[in-house]
Amino acid sequence: MKMIDFRSDTVTRPGKAMLEAMMTAEVGDDVYGEDPTVNKLEAFAADRLGTEAAIFCPSGTQSNLLALLVHCGRGDEYLVGQNAHTYVFEGGGAAVLGSIQPQPILADNDGTLNLNKVEKLIKPDDFHFARTRLLCLENTHLGKILPLDYLARAREMTLRHGLKLHLDGARIFNAAVKLNVDVKQITNHFDSISCCLSKGLGAPVGSVLCGSQKDIKEARKWRKMLGGAMRQTGFLAAAGIYALENNITRLKEDHDNALELATRLNAISQVTIAMNEIQTNIFFAKIDAEMEKLCQFLKEKGILINSDRLSRFVTHLDISREDVEFTIGCFKAYFKN
Ligand SMILES: *Cc1c(COP(=O)(O)O)cnc(C)c1O
Repeated sequence: MKMIDFRSDTVTRPGKAMLEAMMTAEVGDDVYGEDPTVNKLEAFAADRLGTEAAIFCPSGTQSNLLALLVHCGRGDEYLVGQNAHTYVFEGGGAAVLGSIQPQPILADNDGTLNLNKVEKLIKPDDFHFARTRLLCLENTHLGKILPLDYLARAREMTLRHGLKLHLDGARIFNAAVKLNVDVKQITNHFDSISCCLSKGLGAPVGSVLCGSQKDIKEARKWRKMLGGAMRQTGFLAAAGIYALENNITRLKEDHDNALELATRLNAISQVTIAMNEIQTNIFFAKIDAEMEKLCQFLKEKGILINSDRLSRFVTHLDISREDVEFTIGCFKAYFKN
């Protein structure tokens, strides 16, 4: 049974054309730098994101960690959102593996970190304190896009304080497509950018870290140390190339589907959605129901949702408009609405 899975955009399966690209990929030993498909993906990603170089990583978690390890040393500090993926959902890797101290900051409702607050938390140059080295932003954050002028101000502030600026751009192309700008208008403010291929872009595995030649060379050393250097990984890189070539502009469909689904669910009296906060492929629905029962009912119809009362819905490549219509019908049936 095909499941309509709203839990995350990580659940997509490669389609026929992507599988074909994977199966016919030319490969070699990437640890020797001899996998032509990986080399092509890294060059392509760097070109697309407007950086000197890029490195293919098994996950976004590793790609973010590489950036942190490149920018910060032992006893250094990075400024990061209190609810940012890097801080919350990556096992504390920066602290465990890099001896890097996080300074978390609660984001405003629009997903930005207030730069005046951030600036006040930069530690003085004094032996009592950790050395603040880096500001890490996330775009999109909980589906929200950081405004371009905000990025410019963040860049200006970090330069003024001699800080590096990293972007967790797991869903950066959702932001670029929604803003209708070249992704370089987002990336050009940052020293490094991590971009997931395995979210909305639909590849089964992988992220790329993009940055300067020097930083990516350093990242390559850390990736090896972390066990992330792989051999004939061109099979996976081929999926990444396919994703970057074919699955970016279609992200608009995911945004449209999210808005349609949210609008129609919000019309059900037991469902409350902050409609004005929906920007991309993610929204949160407060559902006044016994979630376990609702989830079971939906599961029997082939629909998976997150069981939290404030349930996160994510649309993606494997959810069509028909799936959205079907889902709305099932919700209406459950709530007899
Ligand atoms: C998914 C995600 C990552 C990386 O996740 P992996 O599962 O390790 O690939 C990083 N940041 C954000 C915001 C994410 O959503």
